[in-house]
Amino acid sequence: MDDIYHGEKIAALNDRIEFENYIASEGKSLQTESFRVRDPASGERITELRIADDSVVTTAVESSKSAFESTWGALSRSERSNRLLEWVEVLEEHEDELATIESLDTGKPISQAREEVREAIECLEYYAKVCVTVSGETVDDQSAHIYTRYEPFGLVGAIVPWNFPLVIASWKLGPALAAGNAVVIKPSEKAPLSITRAAQLSADVLPPGTINVVHGPGTPTGETLVSRPDVRKVSFTGSLETGKNVMRTAANTVSPVTLELGGKSPMVVFSDADMEKVVGAVAGSVFHNAGQTCDAYSRVLVHEDRHDEFVERLVARAEDLQVGDPLDPDTEIGPLIDGERHEAVQSHVDRAIESGATPARYPDETSLPSNYFPPTVLDEVATESRISQEEVFGPVEVITSFESYDQAIELANRTKYGLAAAVGTEDMELAHRAARDIDAGSVYINYSGPNPLGAPFGGYEQSGVGRELSRDAILDYMNEKSIYQPIRENY
Ligand code: NDP
Repeated sequence: MDDIYHGEKIAALNDRIEFENYIASEGKSLQTESFRVRDPASGERITELRIADDSVVTTAVESSKSAFESTWGALSRSERSNRLLEWVEVLEEHEDELATIESLDTGKPISQAREEVREAIECLEYYAKVCVTVSGETVDDQSAHIYTRYEPFGLVGAIVPWNFPLVIASWKLGPALAAGNAVVIKPSEKAPLSITRAAQLSADVLPPGTINVVHGPGTPTGETLVSRPDVRKVSFTGSLETGKNVMRTAANTVSPVTLELGGKSPMVVFSDADMEKVVGAVAGSVFHNAGQTCDAYSRVLVHEDRHDEFVERLVARAEDLQVGDPLDPDTEIGPLIDGERHEAVQSHVDRAIESGATPARYPDETSLPSNYFPPTVLDEVATESRISQEEVFGPVEVITSFESYDQAIELANRTKYGLAAAVGTEDMELAHRAARDIDAGSVYINYSGPNPLGAPFGGYEQSGVGRELSRDAILDYMNEKSIYQPIRENY
């Protein structure tokens, strides 16, 4: 593959857009330290952003608090819904631009970036419509009239990773804003641009401060945001260890948290499986976004009778994948997010092979530009090995075979995570039995693909706390209040 050059595209972007911290509808020209945002495919500098230090985060929090108290939080829910739908329209007018930004910033193929921008817009639209349906209830009581109301918390702090920046931001902004909160959002330093641009595009339709974007590393920027007493709800997606830190910090102000912390999701392939469907589902999951996906089917447990056929077909599928320039519409696999991730994936694979895994596909990658990792398949991998237990976050599948149903379920559940799982079988009774027995927040049957709106998404065990994407997720951004009035008998 030739070296990649995106200089002209990057220059065209910078001619039109000024990427900065976005506070009270304005870019803030700060004098703080800055960090570079790079294109993972070409290594070129896209822009440089100022770090939001303590005082900048404080300004953002105060500005959002004031938006909640004076404008956004004071709107009726139908006005709020209409404003959000207007924002959706503006975003739709900029879909191509947002997809190009997302692809340049993360290295994901432009075809996938386009799908994700659409998904994010649809998510915002969904919650804009859900917000007018939220209702409290009346509680029947002989001696009192009791009813409940849902009220926004006020200010939400959202922390977003780099793997699906705009999509994950929409999962948080959608319900939080629709509930009536203002939001201060911190994107990852590694991919902060699409969120910044989407917030800029809200300037003419949402009151200043409704969305503020602060840039900088987890510490200090993210941690400072989470620690602020005015932040009454925290929503985080990222790694398990950082999630634990966020939870600890939020405990100081007793702020409720929604946490989505990744997984080690198995696909269980039973002996009657339709291999075409199953291989499509596995490849569409573990190689999508170069494997940097929290619910990727990063372990396959395959019945011993179908093992050889499965490995052969998955390797063939991996060979066919188009690795290339992310801006080429035919590209299916782009680079990993950065060199650090590349090193981590490489070391996972090398260690697994040293410990006895068989490289069914592990091509020499020296012809690829740096940060690219080839689609890799490791066979006969022990379930106790690190590669079977830890997130790899790269295009690497690990395969283990099983003999019986009970063994398959036991292996599937032998992990501290429980975000997602998949089942490959044509026998629907078996599929639903396995779906019942596997400990995971979502179980997909013969399928991989985007998470549908309305279906709750979140983890069992150490994969997280709470659910996103569901209709009821909006309630996680609201307090519930009971109002009580005695009924007098002696009138
Ligand atoms: P992190 O969990 O460290 O980062 C996620 C977000 O949290 C980023 O915006 C990060 O900022 C921010 N952050 C980091 N530390 C803190 C803190 N103390 N308080 C508040 N916010 C903080 O993920 P990494 O980018 O380091 O990736 C490491 C691994 O995490 C990956 O290899 C993968 O296994 C997993 N991961 C899981 C994801 C998922 O979807 N569940 C998504 C991304 C990663 P910044 O990056 O700017 O420092």
